Amino acid sequence: MAREDYEIVMGLEVHSELSTKTKIFCSCPTEFGGEPNTHCCPICMAMPGTLPVLNEKVVEYAVKAGLATNCDIARTSKNDRKNYFYPDLPKAYQISQFDMPLCVDGHIDIETEEGTKSIRIERIHIEEDAGKLNHDEYGRGSFVDLNRAGVPLIEIVSKPDLRSKEEVESYLRKLKSILEYIEVSDCKMQEGSLRADVNVSVRKKGSKEFGTRTEMKNMNSFKSILRAIEYESNRQIDVIESGGEVEQESLRWDDISGKTFSMRDKENAQDYRYFPDPDLVAIKISDEYINNIKSNLPELPDSRKKRYMEEYKLPEYDSRLITASKYLSDLLEEAVEVCNNPKTVSNFIMTDITKFLNEKELEPEEIPFTAQQLGELVKLIDKGTISSSIAKKVLAEMFEKPEDPNKIIEKNGWIQISDEGAIKEVVKKVLSENEKSVNDYKAGKDKALGYLVGQAMKATKGKANPGMLNKMFLEELNK
Ligand code: ADP
Ligand code: MG
Ligand code: ZN
Repeated sequence: MAREDYEIVMGLEVHSELSTKTKIFCSCPTEFGGEPNTHCCPICMAMPGTLPVLNEKVVEYAVKAGLATNCDIARTSKNDRKNYFYPDLPKAYQISQFDMPLCVDGHIDIETEEGTKSIRIERIHIEEDAGKLNHDEYGRGSFVDLNRAGVPLIEIVSKPDLRSKEEVESYLRKLKSILEYIEVSDCKMQEGSLRADVNVSVRKKGSKEFGTRTEMKNMNSFKSILRAIEYESNRQIDVIESGGEVEQESLRWDDISGKTFSMRDKENAQDYRYFPDPDLVAIKISDEYINNIKSNLPELPDSRKKRYMEEYKLPEYDSRLITASKYLSDLLEEAVEVCNNPKTVSNFIMTDITKFLNEKELEPEEIPFTAQQLGELVKLIDKGTISSSIAKKVLAEMFEKPEDPNKIIEKNGWIQISDEGAIKEVVKKVLSENEKSVNDYKAGKDKALGYLVGQAMKATKGKANPGMLNKMFLEELNK
């Protein structure tokens, strides 16, 4: 059978570091980086005799994430020990949640080619992160850094509802933007704040049963995830096509060779010997607690998107792209407060700003100018102080050296010429120097007008008011 006769089935386990100030069971800072082993105390280093105390903020953030992804919140849940040995895990167990997670049965909606699709979320639970091993490049061994040990995580487990790498990408982007909107995680993938275990299986189209899955661990870039899915699904199809069977196992994706490698046989729940952590009490949550978080939940990307289409009259595509980033969405709204012109602000974001970010490989957060400055720029166009072509030049300057656009145009002498006398002078000069175009126009070639306007723009270095130019040329030509 050909590759097209197979369907890919995927489910994601997404780990997201919570941006609480302190760790999940002690008061050490969660801040990324720092000298190795400086954000640690006896508790997160697992000294004998120490006891964990659950950080209430972790529960609050996880409940927030659960509500934002349409989950039911468990009124009672608990922490369990997941036992395994690894040098970055000083207790030799991770405190996680096993059979009573904090949040269950949610879903988020994604856009696909066939329309909106709901991806079910099985559970969200809280757990602690492990430390990190730094492998010495001279082969003298590995050094453990426990700064990350005890940083709070939520794990968001999806049902196996994803059917293509495009769906996986939309799901992850949507999830990431929801977590950013509710401000529970900075979601910096390059710092490992958001990472995914990607479970992949294949089956013949039309088949009711799922195939055996493999799990690619700890992926933290969209590009690698998409490449890895492509490679792994094809590998599984080849195994089946050549008469073999896919083995359930954990895999490591290697970006350089572009292949997956076997890590170890898949542990199952028995290997982890889960049991309730006797050092921690059950987590009891009241309706009041949940309702309070619910009523303080900020507006989420889907709702903002709808609002942009209805109130701002922006196209669906633009609304979706802008709301995908909380930063861009906030930028739009704050700039609109200043200039009251959503269409033009949105156009700047969709064209010049996006282009700039792509070229420089920057994140929206790295845009150097403020929403206020962007709003002022649009106001200057609307007032006729500058033309839209000059506005593009001002924006380019704002990326280089952000300051008030009023100052930029003043400094560069870019103020639009709207003085009738001055414009008439230019029009007359251009007409006298371009006799051929004048004759062309009179002979019915309307295009000649555009050329003449262009010449006048050139003569004024783009500063003439284009509306006035057009009008005056027409007046002169039709005399
Ligand atoms: P574990 O912790 O052992 O990996 P979980 O049940 O927590 O197991 O997670 C399993 C993940 O794998 C879920 O995201 C689920 O959607 C996904 N999954 C389960 N079965 C399949 C399958 N046959 N193909 C692809 N993904 C699957
Ligand atoms: Mg797993
Ligand atoms: Zn600590």
